[in-house]
Amino acid sequence: MRVVLLGPPGVGKGTQGRRLAEGQGWALISTGEMLREAARKQTPLGLEAQRQMDAGLLIADDVIIGLVRECIAGPEARKGFVLDGFPRTVPQADALDRMLSEQGVQLDAVVSLGATEEELVRRLSARRECPVCKRAYNLDSAPPKRDGTCDDHPETKLIQRVDDRPETVRKRFVVYREQTAPLIDYYRRSSQLRDVPGLGTRDEVYRALLDALGRGAGAR
Ligand code: AMP
Repeated sequence: MRVVLLGPPGVGKGTQGRRLAEGQGWALISTGEMLREAARKQTPLGLEAQRQMDAGLLIADDVIIGLVRECIAGPEARKGFVLDGFPRTVPQADALDRMLSEQGVQLDAVVSLGATEEELVRRLSARRECPVCKRAYNLDSAPPKRDGTCDDHPETKLIQRVDDRPETVRKRFVVYREQTAPLIDYYRRSSQLRDVPGLGTRDEVYRALLDALGRGAGAR
């Protein structure tokens, strides 16, 4: 299947997207992850991306579209893919449509993971990740076994993303409301949208996500 995960910052697109891709054998295409990787390597794109990310702003559409185009056309994406964090603007959604129709394929589903802003701000401020394996933790709801270190890399201290700081989080929500939320109506009009509540435990959300995709326990 070809699936897009939509939703506000912190709703769990990354966590659920990773699990879905691994569980189903699909490629995970995470634009945020690609940009953070480029920033770690200090490539020209990475340095520019870092500035925008730290300010809670979006990267230019044409840059992001170029990145995604390569992934979607790659061999790993042939069995299916999960897009996490793309599209984020209407021009990106139009470009995705065009890329897929050039390949003679289409999206199977767009999942909108929903939650209130208040809950998400709380979650984002408690979010930590392992810089080595990218495993996500939440100090309230999914803490590591040992204080401050990754369960799988006990030597590695968990970090907070710079863009999870309160002032950047607020900016990311403004950008989400203005530029990304209109995509919910965009995809609802084409009947591709499936709403999944993003609140609850990770397992509950994952089960609801599989059900929405017709891949749950009851599916054949
Ligand atoms: P994420 O990990 O999806 O929350 O993305 C982190 C940051 O990367 C965002 O706040 C943006 O600055 C940038 N970013 C990720 N995906 C996109 C996209 N599709 N379009 C523009 N900027 C993006």
